[in-house]
Amino acid sequence: MIRLSVGSAALLGLSTNRMDAYPTTAYLLSGKSCRMKCAFCPQGNGDDEALKRLGRISWPEYTWDEVESALSKAESKGLKRICLQSVRHDEGIEPLIDIVKRLRKITSLPLSLSAWIGNDKEATALINAGVDKISVSIDVVNPTAFEDIKGGSQKDRLELLLNCAEKLPGKMSTHLICGLGETEFEALKMIDMLLKANVTIALFAFVPLKGTAMENLQPPPVDFYRRIQAGYYLLKHGKAGFISFEFDNERLVSFGLEEQALKDVLSDGTAFLTSGCSGCNRPYYNERPGKAIYNYHRALSKEETDQAVLQLLESLKLKIGQ
Ligand code: SF4
Repeated sequence: MIRLSVGSAALLGLSTNRMDAYPTTAYLLSGKSCRMKCAFCPQGNGDDEALKRLGRISWPEYTWDEVESALSKAESKGLKRICLQSVRHDEGIEPLIDIVKRLRKITSLPLSLSAWIGNDKEATALINAGVDKISVSIDVVNPTAFEDIKGGSQKDRLELLLNCAEKLPGKMSTHLICGLGETEFEALKMIDMLLKANVTIALFAFVPLKGTAMENLQPPPVDFYRRIQAGYYLLKHGKAGFISFEFDNERLVSFGLEEQALKDVLSDGTAFLTSGCSGCNRPYYNERPGKAIYNYHRALSKEETDQAVLQLLESLKLKIGQ
């Protein structure tokens, strides 16, 4: 058995659910209870109902025959990628290699994997089996918050990620969740370091989920997320350097660009789209339909772009006319 995100299942015809938006990546989830006990995630609490959820999304279970048959039509349904997520278990990477080989027989779409790996040899074996990108998820930017929320050492996971990125250029990615106690300085400094190491970054906003230890906390303010999101975009596309960013008490106050230059760079709305592996849009992973949107899963309208840019500009102390 394997789980599919409810949107992936609907797109592939395995469920009759009607969705507000459909994914451009098929999201699969393997494994049962997770050995990690991340405080923001329902997967580690062992509750059957909670196991059906990851992020805001529900994950119905299907047989492999059903999923293989559906995925063989993935490209004709407009899907651009497959993303296999796995809970942490005690069985090593062999079950993952088996799944990757099965998937490689039925689709040539690029395959992302987000799973627990212990060393670069495991990463190499998974890449050799047919994975396009492997995520070593850092999730929590602040090292002390990392220990409290995920347990273990952030330094060790970062070392593994950077070591793999050096040995497997362009093949490593990570997830960073904004709103878990980090400052904007810390978030953008880590983003800058990871970009320089050629790591693909997917930004998320923290979502308080029922059944988790963090269910009563608040999601981050949208303007906080926009500053990190825009900073990430500018760094990634070489439009500004981290050295030009200015902070007041670790809160971003300037990207070092004049207002018109910043408006021009952000005018197509791309900075506010879902980030991460190419073709990954994660519709409503962080947001409820009709509520504030952190990551747009599709191109923004002009009004949406103008609103996002205005919100960003108003929150900055801009260096106008310098
Ligand atoms: S960025 Fe998207 S496709 Fe890549 S690992 Fe994360 S969820 Fe999967």
